[in-house]
Order: sequence, then structure tokens, then C-alpha cells
Amino acid sequence: MVDIKVSGSVEEVMHQAKKAFDVYKKKSGKEKADFLGRIADSIESQRAGLVPVAMEESHLPEARLQGELSRTTNQLRLFAELLREGSWVEASIDRGMPERKPLPRPDIRKMLQPVGPVVVFGASNFPFAFSTAGGDSASVLASGSTLVVKGHPAHPKTSRMMYEAMHKAVVESGLPQYTIQHVSDASFLVGQQLVEHPLTAGVGFTGSYKGGRALIDYAANRKCPIPVFAEMGSVNPVVLYPEMLSLKSAEIAQQYAGSITAGMGQFCTNPGLILGIKGDGLTVFMDKLGVAIKTVQPMPMLHEGIHDSYVESLNAILEKKQVTVIARSETLPNGMEGHPTVVSVSAGSFLENEYLQHEVFGPYSIVVVCDDKEALKQVLSNLEGQLTSTIVGTENDMVAFQDVVDLQIALAGRILVNDVPTGVEVCNSMVHGGPYPATADGRFTSVGTTSIKRWVRPVCYQGFPQQFLPEELKDGNPLQIWRCVDNTWSK
Ligand code: NAP
Repeated sequence: MVDIKVSGSVEEVMHQAKKAFDVYKKKSGKEKADFLGRIADSIESQRAGLVPVAMEESHLPEARLQGELSRTTNQLRLFAELLREGSWVEASIDRGMPERKPLPRPDIRKMLQPVGPVVVFGASNFPFAFSTAGGDSASVLASGSTLVVKGHPAHPKTSRMMYEAMHKAVVESGLPQYTIQHVSDASFLVGQQLVEHPLTAGVGFTGSYKGGRALIDYAANRKCPIPVFAEMGSVNPVVLYPEMLSLKSAEIAQQYAGSITAGMGQFCTNPGLILGIKGDGLTVFMDKLGVAIKTVQPMPMLHEGIHDSYVESLNAILEKKQVTVIARSETLPNGMEGHPTVVSVSAGSFLENEYLQHEVFGPYSIVVVCDDKEALKQVLSNLEGQLTSTIVGTENDMVAFQDVVDLQIALAGRILVNDVPTGVEVCNSMVHGGPYPATADGRFTSVGTTSIKRWVRPVCYQGFPQQFLPEELKDGNPLQIWRCVDNTWSK
């Protein structure tokens, strides 16, 4: 068993990861695709055992976890398809021009190559899809990098079982034993040592701003800094535009009550900030939102730390005289349950009180009432980078408020129209990322196939004899992938 439990063994873990990398990086796309498919099959074969354990550890309901497990295996298979097709390596060839005057051009070819061992911190709020075998891990393995997962302490048994299912696929695929390693029962110190180890080439993280920022700082202070792709939270602003509110405020309120409280609000895409211009439409929206929130049943939160931090942040907000409670669930919470709550505040007070602008992780949202369009623009201009930004408006609204829409587009990685931000599709076109501090680097996504780009670097082969080139770059295109040859795309 390759489960490392003791904190002094980071050195050993990273050397093993590097040794495995030297073998794994040379595997073909087909071999890696078969491997990812075997991981998916192995996890599926453990479904009956995994779901009850995750339910016990995370307090999430069975239906949610069944769906999340399917998402986890589907995303592994999606990466397998990407690898089988092969064009993701962005092969580009500029053939040599020995006769060119005044200087000959050498033969120059380029493709993406894996960076090396990557450390992934499992996330607490998705025990399957963003944890041990989640999207970060799938993209790391697809890239050809080896994986060291630091299991999240909120679901240690689930994490270990997932690791064991993955390890079975390593053995069945005849890959190096340490292609995937799992670090558990650890501490901040072990996390820090993993990030700081000279053989670590990249880091994936989903969690708090404080945690993400700490990892970014460890990585930046290394002798050789490395990228940390941290997803650190977002309030996901939603702007309710006037014409749409005059048509559908009750329906929108119902839809948003569901989105704010789904999974007890423990999604990074939770709509934690709703903006609108004062008027009847917004008043009806707030009334109906309140009616719906009152009936939502509290449910246990993921772990004690998340529950305590929710209660603390919420109490600090409720104490402020500028904040008005729209509604709270009429069922009082017990133990670790979250208490669904929505509040409102004026734009002026929101701008003056920075703590109102931060994520409150849980079933909560704040409605900011703006006097006019200028106030709305001022609030949006003051917001930090976000994962999502939602436009609830008619096409007339989008014309009349084009300058506001432009501000919304500048804010986030994913802009939605007439939808809720919760629910992130895993597909080629998804962007789950956004300007800092939503993520450490807004140029990348952590969901969808392009998340693989976090773990690769472009490598240029100049003047290489054919036999020493990777298959992707050889003359005759043996893998039949899309390549850009002398400025023209072809297969
Ligand atoms: P977290 O506290 O950020 O921890 C996530 C992982 O990072 C854990 O493995 C933790 O180590 C590690 N870590 C945190 N700070 C570290 C440091 N200074 N040095 C080294 N490692 C560090 O997240 P969480 O436990 O999942 O939840 C806490 C809060 O995070 C929530 O209340 C919520 O605000 C936020 N959160 C946000 C999202 C989101 O999607 N935006 C998701 C989950 C949580 P240990 O394993 O030793 O604990």
C-alpha cells in the first residue's frame, strides 16, 4: 500500500513521484486514455461501497452523491476521449527552409508536454468530483504528469477508498507503482512541504481564500517558483434587470431560492450577491424570495469548520444595523445544520462595509438595492474577480444597460443569461475560473477538458532528426491529429 500517513515522508513521496513521471510521461495518448478508463471502471465497481461512506462523512444526500460519482467517472472518460483524439497537444510545425535568403530557416516544431509531478489538494465540498479522483486529478493524469493527492481531512475514508480504486487501475495498466500517491492524516505543515518540495512542478487547490493564498505564497517563495492553480471562492454577482423583473419576479425568486440553498449553499458558484434597481419588481422579488427561503429545511453542513465559519460570518453581518433580514428558514437548525438566510442592504452601505462583499460559504445571499443605474455600476466596479456573473434580463434590458453588462463580462470567467450559476457542466467549452481572487490565474479553467492546460508547457524542437521527435510531430502525421503545418491546419 502506498498510502503515506506520516509527516516526515514528503521527500520520499516526491522522489517516487518524479521517478514515476520519467516513465509515465512517455506513455502514448492511447495508453493514458486506457488508464483513465480503467480508473473510471474501478471507481464505478466500488459505487455501492463509496456512496454510503461519502454520505456519512460529508452529510450530503444519496442522490447528490450518486450524481457526483457519475460526474467523476464521466469526466475521466471525457479526458480519455481527448487523449484518443490527440489534437489537444497543439502540434505546430514550421518546416525548415534551407534555401531561404538571406538566412536559412531551421526546422522548428512545437507541442505541449507535461510539467512533472503535481500536488492536488482534495476539496471538501465535492468529495468525489473535486477531490481525490476529481477534475484536478483527472486533468493531471491526462496531461502525462504524475499525481500526489493530499486527501481532505473532512472525508478521509472516502478519499482513501477512491485512491485504492485508482491504484487498482495503476496496477492493471502496468504503470509505475507511484504514478498516483495519496497523502492522508496530514497537516498544514505537510501541505506546505509538498508545495515547497523542489520536485513539485504544479499545485491544484479548491477551498478558502486563506488556504489558497497560503499555498500561492509558499510556491512564490521557493527558489524555483511554481504555479498554484487555486480556486478560492466567489460571491457570483447576479444582476436583476428592470424589464425582466417586471415580467417574472416571482418565478425568478423561486428559482434563486433553490440555487442559494442547493447543497446547503456549499458551492463555489452559489449566488451570494444579488443586485437590482429599487422598484416594484425588486420588492416583489425580495418578498417572494423570503417566502421561499422560510420553507427551506436546514441540513447539516460538510464539516464543523465550515459550519462554524458560516455561523460566525453570518452573525457578524446580522449584527449590523444597515443590514435588513429578508427571511430565514422557519425551521431552526440543529447541531451542524446551516440556517438558510437572505438579507438586503443599500448600495451605499454595501460599498462602505467591505465585509459584506466577501463570500459567506453556505445557504446565504445578500440583495443590494441600488437607487439607479449609476449606483449599480459603482457596486459592480468595486467587486473583485469572480467565477461567474449572471444577467437576469430581457434583450431590451441588455441594450438599455449595455454598459452594466460590459462590467459584468469583465468581472468573471463565465457569464450567464437567465439562468442560475450553480451547476457547472463538464465539457470542452466550460470555464470554471476567473480573475483573482476567484482563482489564482484567470487565464485557466479548473473544469472541462481545457483544464489540462494547467499542467503542460510548450516545448520547441529545433532541427531534430525525425527519429528523435515525438510521434505528434513526425512527418506524415502518424497519429492523424490536427496540426498547424506551415500556417495551415491539417490532419
Ligand atoms: P480550506 O480550509 O481552504 O482547506 C482546504 C485544504 O487546504 C485542506 O487540505 C487544508 O489542509 C489545506 N490548507 C488550508 N490552509 C493551508 C495552509 N495554510 N497551509 C497548508 N495547507 C493548507 O478549505 P475547507 O476545509 O474545505 O473549508 C474551509 C472554508 O473554505 C469554507 O468555510 C469556505 O469558506 C471555503 N471553501 C470554499 C470553496 C469554494 O469552492 N470556493 C470550497 C470549499 C471550501 P488540512 O488538510 O490540513 O486541513
